Amino acid sequence: MSKIIIAIDGPAGSGKSTIAKMVAERLNFTYLDTGAMYRAITYLALQAGIVDDEKEVNKLVEGLDVTLNFENGLTHVFVDGIEVTEHIRTPEVNSKVSEIAAMPFVRKELVRMQQSMGKVGNVVAEGRDTTTVVFPNADLKIYLDATVDVRAERRYKEYLEKGVPVNLDEVTENIRKRDRIDSGREASPLLVAENAIEVDTSNLTVDEEFEILIENIKKKINFN
Ligand code: C5P
Repeated sequence: MSKIIIAIDGPAGSGKSTIAKMVAERLNFTYLDTGAMYRAITYLALQAGIVDDEKEVNKLVEGLDVTLNFENGLTHVFVDGIEVTEHIRTPEVNSKVSEIAAMPFVRKELVRMQQSMGKVGNVVAEGRDTTTVVFPNADLKIYLDATVDVRAERRYKEYLEKGVPVNLDEVTENIRKRDRIDSGREASPLLVAENAIEVDTSNLTVDEEFEILIENIKKKINFN
């Protein structure tokens, strides 16, 4: 098999990560979690107290080395060799990550790193803009969507499972806010790519969704 790239795109809570991990494991491909990289930058900017200062964030990002290592179902994230994995999925990071991800220089740097990770091939890249900007020539582009309420409910359950105290209204509002910022931003707004296969996951179980994706992948790629 040659250097295949599968890109999975869609809004917050559309189920991208769960399914991208499953597909990567099934095909024995590398899972490229682009959101984890934006989260890592957001965490560092919060730590440094510069999250609202774009110039300072740009300085922070310049020359920074962000690497990912997917192991046992979890993406481990390292910045200049230091692991930040356990800090990047907090409500604090969630509420700021879209603002950081709207900064053009941040995107430029992270997209460059992602494209270089993709050169190795046999990658499942997941994140909004992976089908449009990072890998516009991906072998297969998938756009997952679901209603705001379904997406909020999924995120809410994830928090509860992790023991993070949140309320559903706040989570819903956060999803709406992220949609607004992600769709309205100038740098790589959330878009459905040309030739992307669109899947509405609102009424699908994860297994049903997985089956649909695998069927589509089989049409394009030979695998056992
Ligand atoms: O996928 P995840 O929820 O971890 O992504 C966090 C945020 O990072 C998204 O809400 C979005 O604002 C940003 N992001 C992005 N481009 C990507 C991946 C994530 O702008 N390729």
